Amino acid sequence: MNEFELGDLVQMRKKHPCGTDKWTIIRVGADIKIRCQGCGRIVMMDRMEFVKRMKKVLAHSEVPVRGTNEEEWPYVQQ
Ligand SMILES: [Zn+2]
Repeated sequence: MNEFELGDLVQMRKKHPCGTDKWTIIRVGADIKIRCQGCGRIVMMDRMEFVKRMKKVLAHSEVPVRGTNEEEWPYVQQ
């Protein structure tokens, strides 16, 4: 069972065409949004699908990622 949260670095089962399998979680809600570490592409999927596709959490974020890229940052609605 993988616990994941906003800002975590995760490894996906399938590699992105750009060659990396590492993604950062940039939104957690009913849908999960992740950003490719290799090319910066953002992909959204529902939670079930994300859990299925994720291999493991590589690193938990200790500092909120918020603000690093304000333009693209989707605020989580509670
Ligand atoms: Zn990529």
